[in-house]
Amino acid sequence: MRTNDLDSLWLPFTDNRYFKANPRLLARAEGMHYWTPEGRQLLDGTAGLWCVNAGHGRPGIVAAIQAQAAEMDFAPTFQLAHPLAFEVASRVGALMPPGLDRIFFANSGSEAVDTALKIALAYHRARGEGSRTRLIGRERGYHGTGFGGLSVGGIMPNRRAFGPGLPGVDHLPSTHDPLRNAFSHGQPLHGAERADALEGLVALHGADTIAAVIVEPLAGSTGVLVPPLGYLERLREICTRHGILLIFDEVITGFGRLGAATAAEAFGVTPDMITLAKGITNGAVPMGAVACARGIYDGLIDAAGDAPGIELFHGYTYSAHPLACAASIATLDVYRDEGLFARAAALAPAWEAALHSLAGHAHVTDIRTLGLVAGIELAPRPGSPGVRGQLLFRHLFDKGLLARATGDIIALSPPLIISEDEIGAMVEHVARGLALLD
Ligand code: PMP
Repeated sequence: MRTNDLDSLWLPFTDNRYFKANPRLLARAEGMHYWTPEGRQLLDGTAGLWCVNAGHGRPGIVAAIQAQAAEMDFAPTFQLAHPLAFEVASRVGALMPPGLDRIFFANSGSEAVDTALKIALAYHRARGEGSRTRLIGRERGYHGTGFGGLSVGGIMPNRRAFGPGLPGVDHLPSTHDPLRNAFSHGQPLHGAERADALEGLVALHGADTIAAVIVEPLAGSTGVLVPPLGYLERLREICTRHGILLIFDEVITGFGRLGAATAAEAFGVTPDMITLAKGITNGAVPMGAVACARGIYDGLIDAAGDAPGIELFHGYTYSAHPLACAASIATLDVYRDEGLFARAAALAPAWEAALHSLAGHAHVTDIRTLGLVAGIELAPRPGSPGVRGQLLFRHLFDKGLLARATGDIIALSPPLIISEDEIGAMVEHVARGLALLD
């Protein structure tokens, strides 16, 4: 690589100047591992970016993408479709909670989120409740980088350079409560009452102005925040009572991360829409989707009436792209044939025990796990928040483990094919890295 090769690329969510002085490159991947261009092996502790749930380089997925590229590379998406699109929709729909089987395709989590928010607005308007335009997110929520997702998202650094975002947006408080819930096993006990902030917003604005609430059932990007027991149930109940649509953003939790097809299934709480991406194709080809309750789809179709006409003026050139569909079908085959969601559930107790063994280490202030995901929270260095997280991430990368740092929280979310030995190796890496922090 020539030095000036570094100049053109503008990396997303990256300190580009630092990166270009210290580039970290990944060149190859297979199974549980990445390799750098120099041939150094890294254990993949993050399933890429929470997406490679079946592990890297699955031959069936590779072959399906290759075959589809040769068969038909692209098909226009508006007023036309191809057979694989129907197949993926029905396969994905069958994995959703009962009734959430009307599937709209996008190309990323961000697009799926903006699609879901727009469907919520259009649905209310089609039913004659056009006053329902307010959207409610949550502090520390991550819903991608479109203007809709950014606006309902609750991460200040992501928002502050871009002005006020959408009007009419409120945020519920985060469920993060380290004082009461640190080192909880499974769902924390305290905090269900934070859902009641929604009642406050209803009292303030009127239910007839509120279209939808969107939350990650388990917040991933901001540090693996597990919902307190009873919290999601309470949110569901308040939404139902006030006619507000509840959207679960399952871009991370969809496709097995919590030991079930969805977090909705894992927690036993059914929203009105679920946003999906990442694991839908095992990360191999970009794809996003919104799973909608039949009533939402029917509501929009019925409102359009008998006259011919488009009921939702929304979509993407690459919605249900043939390569993404082929990758998705092959991915869903792997999940099914290898029982990977059940495997994640079966491994979860060993995962939890291994991660919690890090509890006594210096600087560790909380450990949160559920399914095959974990957040290890470190005490920030006084005056330099985020530095310990970055140092640990870099140390782990140098020693052979890919982890993810978000501030002073290290997140782990390995492919669901991980073995118990690899879980042990991962925790060993982290223990050695923690010992080096001052
Ligand atoms: N929602 C959630 C919950 C996510 O975790 C992410 C990505 N990490 C997104 C939306 C955005 O997805 P994408 O980067 O594919 O746009």
